[in-house]
Amino acid sequence: MNYELMKYNIDKLLPGEVCEYLRKSRSDDPALSVEEVLQRHASILNDWAIHNLGESIPEENIFREIVSGETIADRPEVQKLLTMIESPRIKAILIVEPQRLSRGDLEDVGRIMKLIKYSNTLVITPTKIYDLQDKYDHEAFERELKRGNEFLEYTKTILRRGRIRSVAEGNYIGSKPPFGYDRCVVSENNRKYHTLKINEEQANIVRMIYDMFVNQDLGMVLICRKLNAMGIRPLVNTHWTRASIDTILKNIHYTGKVYWNRRKAVNVVEDGEILRTRPVQKDYQVFDGKHEAIISDELFAAAQEKMGRLSRKRPNTELKNVLAGVLYCKCGYSMSLKHYPKKDGSKRCASRLICDNQAVCHTGSSTYEEVYNRVKEILAENIADFEVQLAKEKANKENLTDSIIAQLEKRLQELNEAELKLWDEKAQNRGTEDEMPEHIFRSLKNKIKIEQAEVINALEQAKEVAPPKIDYEERIVRFRDALTTLESPDASASLKNRLLKNCIERIEYSREKPVRISKDTCEIYHIDKSAVHSRGNWFAQPLELTVKLRV
Ligand SMILES: [Zn+2]
Repeated sequence: MNYELMKYNIDKLLPGEVCEYLRKSRSDDPALSVEEVLQRHASILNDWAIHNLGESIPEENIFREIVSGETIADRPEVQKLLTMIESPRIKAILIVEPQRLSRGDLEDVGRIMKLIKYSNTLVITPTKIYDLQDKYDHEAFERELKRGNEFLEYTKTILRRGRIRSVAEGNYIGSKPPFGYDRCVVSENNRKYHTLKINEEQANIVRMIYDMFVNQDLGMVLICRKLNAMGIRPLVNTHWTRASIDTILKNIHYTGKVYWNRRKAVNVVEDGEILRTRPVQKDYQVFDGKHEAIISDELFAAAQEKMGRLSRKRPNTELKNVLAGVLYCKCGYSMSLKHYPKKDGSKRCASRLICDNQAVCHTGSSTYEEVYNRVKEILAENIADFEVQLAKEKANKENLTDSIIAQLEKRLQELNEAELKLWDEKAQNRGTEDEMPEHIFRSLKNKIKIEQAEVINALEQAKEVAPPKIDYEERIVRFRDALTTLESPDASASLKNRLLKNCIERIEYSREKPVRISKDTCEIYHIDKSAVHSRGNWFAQPLELTVKLRV
């Protein structure tokens, strides 16, 4: 009989009431594979189970994390485990050490602790058992989980040091090779390192792009068209875009160099979720690589010089695209703002919005002004619409479903409070003569649980029939803010863009190619003969914007 188990009042614990969780962490021997580590841990935990419970934990209660995510959301097995412990059938989690549950992300630590505590689940490790109803255990467990975080920060630093050393030696540590190269592993003095090997077929295309850009003085868009016309394909997409040419013309790997930290992963919070992005950094280091160059230093420098000249040509006062990140062509590519400056910097014609994929999708372009004005109209139309809805809502305030929902929500809150009170009572009197007998506690808890489930179910049904509750006043304020700012000549383009994105998630742009109409064909298009020039005119097709609001 296990003394620890007796202390925790669970000497009758059954194997089926225990969940086992296995995960490899950075503290394990890096030479071992995930499978080997999990195997080793499983056997330690199995020994414990056989010794203390008389039997192994059943297979369906064992969760093996194969992927190694930093947060709960990245680890599917821990999610399953946390759902499982909500069931009263599960009384304990068996793990090699607390840190296996969390890598120490503070939000995750809080969530895990709460779930374990309120589901009254014990955490069993071969060396110690934690009961989170107990204050000391609670603190000790929390400390252990947070230790995971310090350890993670530490290993990240160590890893980074190892990686920067590797780059400084000229190795290629990226997971994807630049177009023109393949990744390969080379052994040297008993050490292996990753580097790049020229892929001749792709490298010839890279050489051709630099030659067209520098020696033939072609623009990037023209280069795309030529490559697409020749049937040459990039790696992932079906055809070349200006952005892909731009990336190739800027990639210093082609001169036999390697970067460090050009694209550092950054965590950003968006809609309450943590997302990782890899923006291009301004301060990055360049080292001599171990790989062979495809482009000479001179040719690369000439390309950089030409690109600098191209971007410098644009005066700073130039109109920036307020619709960036909002306006997309119906083919899925973004619509970019194009300017047509004369040599002296003055405008040749009005700035236009053109699909990045225009060469392939052939969508007609529009002047920036036309689309911009249309977007302002859309905002105004929606404000008017919200005002009508708000007035309607105020008129029939007495809504039956609303009052039912309010009542159910109140009852659910009462039940949640009753549940917490029950836990607290049990914890307070633990070990005293007033201690609530386990069977009474469980039956009270189950009663609450059953009613909670009923109320939640009723709420869901009521909400299904109830019209969705919409805060029209908030919407009106938000949309008006955006509209006034869009109309203000003093507001910056980035502010306008931000406020617009507050209201509109995405606008899909669609416009047929303009048609050329002569006096003979104008009737088909319902255009008056007098409006058509004797040699024919170009007529723009109607602009269609499909808007997805952010509400
Ligand atoms: Zn398009």
